[in-house]
Amino acid sequence: MGSVIVRGETTIVDQMIYHDDQPITWEDADARAGRRLDRRRAWAFVEGTLCTSISWTQACSGCGYGFEDRGSGCSECGHHGVTREAMWVPEPMTSKDLP
Ligand SMILES: [Zn+2]
Repeated sequence: MGSVIVRGETTIVDQMIYHDDQPITWEDADARAGRRLDRRRAWAFVEGTLCTSISWTQACSGCGYGFEDRGSGCSECGHHGVTREAMWVPEPMTSKDLP
């Protein structure tokens, strides 16, 4: 199940970053994007730019280097040796998205 938000003001309090994310309806999102968005994906409008979410796993910074340490782990990564990361990236318009 996808979702769509608009990223509002970003504030930093005590070195913690807070994003003022506002969920919007698919109809509103389609109008903003100028096309019909894939309901199965996660979307965000960051500073007016349509972005989609990508996620990946990487070696945990809390328990040493690389995947050699996999299996040992620490509390930061739940003892898996890897952490799950995600970020918003701008979604380029591609020809397959055009009507
Ligand atoms: Zn770890």
